[in-house]
Amino acid sequence: MYAIGDVTGAPYLAHRAMVQGEVVAEVIAGKRAAWDFRAMPAAVFTDPEIATVGLSEPEAKAQGREVSIGKFPFSALGRAMAMGETAGFIKTIVDKTDNRVLGVTVVGPDASDLISEAGLAVEMGAYAEDVALTIHPHPTLSEGMNEAFKHALKEAVHIMNK
Ligand SMILES: Cc1cc2nc3c(=O)[nH]c(=O)nc-3n(C[C@H](O)[C@H](O)[C@H](O)COP(=O)(O)OP(=O)(O)OC[C@H]3O[C@@H](n4cnc5c(N)ncnc54)[C@H](O)[C@@H]3O)c2cc1C
Repeated sequence: MYAIGDVTGAPYLAHRAMVQGEVVAEVIAGKRAAWDFRAMPAAVFTDPEIATVGLSEPEAKAQGREVSIGKFPFSALGRAMAMGETAGFIKTIVDKTDNRVLGVTVVGPDASDLISEAGLAVEMGAYAEDVALTIHPHPTLSEGMNEAFKHALKEAVHIMNK
């Protein structure tokens, strides 16, 4: 007997149930598959949207990790200004010892879409430099992700690096 979805416990998310279904189908088919993921994104479809993946700052600190925090406000982003949606920010949580990406929180326009790049970074064990050095097209909201990781490295271009 196999189980997937909400019946297996939190977090209660449709995409989690979906991936569990894929894993179980492969296991039943005799393929090598396992439920072993680092990144489980979650989105709240409020106005502004909220999306998270990986560890939050309190969760990382509760694990005893030293973290570097990057925070880029949409008010400093050209595309957000053009859209008239400048409320919110992108916050990056990075391991201070090796700059490994631990988590990201986005509050603002298209947060539920922007979080997928962060999910890839957490899932593949990327470093802050990987996103910071990735060229993002202008003018887009995704430039905020690039800047938020640069900010964690104290290399942001459009805001002060404190
Ligand atoms: C209001 C609301 C909003 C949500 N929004 C989001 C969202 O934005 N994003 C997101 O990722 N997740 C969201 N979720 C959570 C998401 O819907 C669940 O995590 C997901 O549906 C879980 O899938 P599941 O297959 O485990 O369960 P379900 O989708 O609940 O499927 C279970 C099925 O089993 C059937 N069933 C129950 N008992 C029996 C029985 N005895 N015999 C036969 N059939 C039975 C039910 O009728 C149902 O069709 C939301 C949930 C709610 C309630």
